[in-house]
Amino acid sequence: MSTRKPNDYKSNVKPIWCPGCGDFAVLNAMMRAFAELDWNHEDIVVASGIGCSSRFPAFLKTYGFHGVHGRALPLATGIKLGNPALHVIAVGGDGDGFSIGGGHFPHAARRNIPLPYVMMDNSIYGMTKGQPSPTSLPGLRVKASPYGSLEPPLNPLVMSLAAQATFVARAFSGELKQLIAILIEALQHPGFAFVQVLSPCVTYNTNYTYDYYRKLTAPLPEEHDTSDWLSAMRWASDPQKQYLGIFYRDTSRPNLIEQMEQVRQSVPAMSLEQIVDSFRR
Ligand code: SF4
Repeated sequence: MSTRKPNDYKSNVKPIWCPGCGDFAVLNAMMRAFAELDWNHEDIVVASGIGCSSRFPAFLKTYGFHGVHGRALPLATGIKLGNPALHVIAVGGDGDGFSIGGGHFPHAARRNIPLPYVMMDNSIYGMTKGQPSPTSLPGLRVKASPYGSLEPPLNPLVMSLAAQATFVARAFSGELKQLIAILIEALQHPGFAFVQVLSPCVTYNTNYTYDYYRKLTAPLPEEHDTSDWLSAMRWASDPQKQYLGIFYRDTSRPNLIEQMEQVRQSVPAMSLEQIVDSFRR
């Protein structure tokens, strides 16, 4: 039984997010998940890139690394490989993760690096005052696209499944109970866990409001089998609905650290001189 309370994980830095921003719910849910799992503050590291949601580590009383744009995953990977005993979590937004950071995502997934990646997806660049992002729908009219954006969106869930992520889920910051439950599962997953959280930007994307997402979303049907990759792909690519829940989970595939350990144990110990010699041959 946990003795910790969610507020124990709150730093003394007050979030500077706009009132009503969906990211508050994600922060709240993350602190509740930490408390539920009874994790020590000093064992947690939260790594992020740049953007409104990437300010996340500052608001937590854990270790954190607010890095450079698009680099949450390389940062988190390095920290996790350096000290696998830590609970390392990558967080950020859709622009950070799927635009400038897009090249890192499929590789973190296919390597099955044991860390959760929580993407707060508001389909806009909020911190730079509202440009269409990689997940905006065509026709989105904001100041930077007065005639409507032109490009079709990326589908983060389809991408993560295609890249062989071993845990794939979608939550909504307007559904706090489910968000907490999904985060608790993702934080304990032994491989790469991708969680897309629909997290409205109430200031610069007034098209995708809480009500908009409430109408757009629905719970994944109960009969969905989370071990069935093809079924997960079908539900994730539905053009009409954004389903919420755990789409896919595979705990059988070894993660990168386990695979590296297997290799380490299968290779005979060598001195530094022997390693240098092996390159001369
Ligand atoms: Fe949240 Fe949008 Fe405000 Fe950024 S600009 S803090 S995403 S509501």
